Amino acid sequence: MREYRTEQIRNIGVIAHSGAGKTSLIEAMLYNGGAVERMGQVDQGTTVADYSPDEIERKTTLNCSVCIAEWNDHKLNIIDTPGAEDFYGDLESVLRVSDAVVVVIDATTGVEGGTEKVWEIADKYNLPRLIFVNKMDKENANFESALASVEEVLEVSTSVVQLPIGAEDDFKGVADLVQMSAIAKPDGNNPAPKSEIPSELEAQAEEYREQLVEAAAEGDDELIEKFFEGELTDEEISVGLQSGVSSCNVVPVLCGAALENIGVQQLMDSIVNCFPSPDNAKPIESADDETTLEASPDATMSTLVFKTMADPFSGRLTFFRVYSGILNGDSQVFNSTRGENEKIGKLAFSQGKTSISTTQVVAGDIGVVPKLSITQTGDTWCEAGDAIQLPGIEFPKPVISFAVKPLREGDDEKLISTLNRMTEEDPTFRLERNDITSQLLVSGLGELHISLTRERMKDRFSVETDVEPPKVPYRETLRRRVSGIQGRYKRQSGGRGQFGDCWINVSPLERGSGFEFVDSIVGGSIPRNYIPAVEKGIREKMEQGVIAGYPLVDTQIELYDGKYHPVDSSDFAFQMAGSLAFSTAADQANPALLEPIMDVSISVPEQFMGDIIGDLNSKRGQVMGVEQSGKRQVIQASVPLAEMLRYSIDLKSITSARGSFTMEFSRYEIVPDELAQKVVAMVKEE
Ligand code: GDP
Ligand code: MG
Repeated sequence: MREYRTEQIRNIGVIAHSGAGKTSLIEAMLYNGGAVERMGQVDQGTTVADYSPDEIERKTTLNCSVCIAEWNDHKLNIIDTPGAEDFYGDLESVLRVSDAVVVVIDATTGVEGGTEKVWEIADKYNLPRLIFVNKMDKENANFESALASVEEVLEVSTSVVQLPIGAEDDFKGVADLVQMSAIAKPDGNNPAPKSEIPSELEAQAEEYREQLVEAAAEGDDELIEKFFEGELTDEEISVGLQSGVSSCNVVPVLCGAALENIGVQQLMDSIVNCFPSPDNAKPIESADDETTLEASPDATMSTLVFKTMADPFSGRLTFFRVYSGILNGDSQVFNSTRGENEKIGKLAFSQGKTSISTTQVVAGDIGVVPKLSITQTGDTWCEAGDAIQLPGIEFPKPVISFAVKPLREGDDEKLISTLNRMTEEDPTFRLERNDITSQLLVSGLGELHISLTRERMKDRFSVETDVEPPKVPYRETLRRRVSGIQGRYKRQSGGRGQFGDCWINVSPLERGSGFEFVDSIVGGSIPRNYIPAVEKGIREKMEQGVIAGYPLVDTQIELYDGKYHPVDSSDFAFQMAGSLAFSTAADQANPALLEPIMDVSISVPEQFMGDIIGDLNSKRGQVMGVEQSGKRQVIQASVPLAEMLRYSIDLKSITSARGSFTMEFSRYEIVPDELAQKVVAMVKEE
């Protein structure tokens, strides 16, 4: 591949709800750019972007992949993204390194739950965007209603740049409102033929053009003056559009059919014309805000790693974007995130599963390098002596957990080492051992995410696993203060006896205080050296719990008196005395079961509010507040973890996948007695 300068590069993420046609659209762009000789199809597993065996098997994108289309003297780095929320980790990575996004809308459905979500993430990164209404050739395609759903649900005012000519079976091409010409389906990947806009479309075209020109002029005083005086030239419209798109004030809408390669060349033109090159994009500040990194090959080198994956053919692959300077192959970089040097071998540009070797990657460009040992996703590379840190990638937090164990006995160690590898590769996949339930827990962004990770573990490392819902890590506590409880341990069996005697008071403490041991022994009624033994005896009993075997917490034990025997007393005897005292006290102190309560934040479109709150009530949840955020409502609630184990699934079904939520541990609270009895019965059964 020839060399491209920074200003000739465009980094574009392609985002949408699953199935809108992202991967197909990218395939068509690659075909037009000459990167492939014929257009592959998702359904046949032949596209450039969906190349991994699991993607081919499932006929859908599971990983981001970087592809290159060369177009009009420019290099388009087009990054495909998965549409399913389970893989939004990759989406965050991609949007972090993109300078703009193409949002694909399915003309037969309009905006879907996933469209809303990816749009919001693009908002977070403040990315310029362009909408492509795809599948205009398909039955039930309707441009007008797709457009209306964009305006209504995404709350954005759009600027139509192309109108469809015909629809469904009769879809013939697009009417371009800047050039005011009709553009038909190209012959192969030749330039698409142009002609006059059909007369029946003229009036509508004029009307939309008027709006488009006004939108293009709006951001610029000179252009707006000209607009009111009369006509703008096509060139002026283009310039106005470009600045409007870059500042996110104008969102152009194009249309076409990826599978038919209609409208795709015009989309590529718009990408080149409207989207910023890396040196024109929003400047990047270092994480400490001290340095602005200039997207110039002459600046000092800084590079962000946005994806690492294990490739069955080339081992580990590391994808990166150079933000400033030049990254050279066969060189050494300083990984400022880890504080270590890393040797970089052969660099390449990625083209789906294949790659194109290169000796260097310039500021603004995206590349890939195999077989690194230290670097992880989110790390920064810079030159030795520099300590630049680029802002990292904010990964979504897990929403579902499962307890995992090996299917085959004896695979425990292999399971843990494999799980550790998976967490290294995928920052949204987490592993944790719960000490209370002794379960190994894996968490991720959805059921599909977890099941796919398990499949990969099986295929790549032949570790087969079983999962089940996690157990709730209950705890226990005492509700009543009791005082004056004796624990006495005395054994006399021939020779030397055993003797320990202690007196304690037990008081409940505030939630979250844990355990407090107060030693108020005066006058040596128990010698100093035996006091730790008493505490040990009490602690051991508390660990075992008194109701259902869960650790007992939030309790103060005061040891205030006792007796000893100069010969028969021992650590063991006092430990036993402590544990006896505690057991007696606990019986009288009205023990209770504690359960974890989660702080939950749920964001849904307004119309689902009633159902969400009803569902929370049935889950023993307490709504703490509701806030409006655009057309969405954000509900803050407090809900027991026991009720939230499958919430990602419930929320999806209540809102048709339009809701999202996060939750984090808040505190422990007492389980209502009736429920506690059920938990105890269940534990006993086990
Ligand atoms: P993605 O999930 O957004 O990447 O969507 P895909 O590219 O995988 O496409 C999903 C399905 O829609 C596949 O069956 C495609 O063949 C089909 N598809 C994509 N683009 C078009 C189009 O322009 N017209 C029609 N009729 N089908 C399309
Ligand atoms: Mg796809």
